[in-house]
Amino acid sequence: MKPVLNLKGVSFQYLKNAIIEDISFQVNGGEIACLLGPSGCGKSTLLRLIAGFEQPQQGQIYIHQNLVASADTMTPPQQRQVGMLFQNLALFPHMTVNQNIGFGLSGHADKQQRIDELLCLCRLEGLNHRYPHQLSGGQRQRVALARAMAPKPRIILLDEPFSSVESELQNDLAHEVKQILKSQGVSVLWVTHSIDEALAVADHIGIIWQGRLMEWSTPTELYEQPKSAVAVKFLNQANLISGEMNEQGCVNSTIGCLNLVNEDQLTPHQATQVAIKQSQLSLSLEQPTNGVVKSCVYQGGYYALTIDIGDKQRLKMHHNQALKPNTAIQVKAITNNGLYGYQT
Ligand code: ADP
Ligand code: MG
Repeated sequence: MKPVLNLKGVSFQYLKNAIIEDISFQVNGGEIACLLGPSGCGKSTLLRLIAGFEQPQQGQIYIHQNLVASADTMTPPQQRQVGMLFQNLALFPHMTVNQNIGFGLSGHADKQQRIDELLCLCRLEGLNHRYPHQLSGGQRQRVALARAMAPKPRIILLDEPFSSVESELQNDLAHEVKQILKSQGVSVLWVTHSIDEALAVADHIGIIWQGRLMEWSTPTELYEQPKSAVAVKFLNQANLISGEMNEQGCVNSTIGCLNLVNEDQLTPHQATQVAIKQSQLSLSLEQPTNGVVKSCVYQGGYYALTIDIGDKQRLKMHHNQALKPNTAIQVKAITNNGLYGYQT
């Protein structure tokens, strides 16, 4: 299948500061791809490069095999056939729902027919004469989506689409928006900082960290076997323990010898971080101790602990009883096989 969107080695600097560095990925027809990363990592800048509001200094961006951006090419935004849903939605406050949705359709013979189609698809029937301030957060969200979809763009870019909606609504909305997009076969690049949102909607997930794409995987691959320590940290599903890997693929750490399954991809005698889930760790008050409780918070049914081990490595663990801060404890690995190590 030919990609709808194709980025090859895209880099962007602002006043000599690298904001986006050497990013390459593809989004195929009808696919939803999510870009996940913390605030300030460059997600919005990347969308602005794709939409045509910034020009890359290196690399190329192709939409439907057409080169739209490089150091010497800059197709204007309106000719790229990209739909954009901005972080703040940017609905026109002085226009009705009908006028907002129809904004990009001037000159279309079947304008009202397309608007009616979208009102139905996005469950906005009966609201066409309302103004944005007369709508709920979820309804405003769907108007912005309808407006982005109206001219049938080749790809839709969503920039943290639910950041202005109450958090309890975000999951339902994510599913709803996914259904709408999938029913139309639209290709989507969806930016979020929520791992739950990405896992719920994406066919592919990219992790961005300090302007670099660290990972491009399916949700299952990402969750089961992240390719980078950054992804492990970001997913927050495992602790990272540091040590040095020996010739036998074992990392000697504060909590014991940890055997790696991916030793052949790593170099012996180098600093290595090992991902270890909390189900693979045990905690007791036995001697010798190797850690200290830093905080303990009741989470309903269990206590969430943060623990310092060794030279200030921080772990997160669950425990069935409360432990006071500064309690000395022993943390052990109960599984020391099948673990993944990462080197930088
Ligand atoms: P994200 O969307 O992931 O939160 P952004 O793409 O908005 O991140 O920003 C990435 C980096 O680029 C940040 O360090 C930010 O300060 C910088 N940046 C973004 N826009 C501008 C701008 N117009 N001028 C200067 N720096 C900018
Ligand atoms: Mg942003």
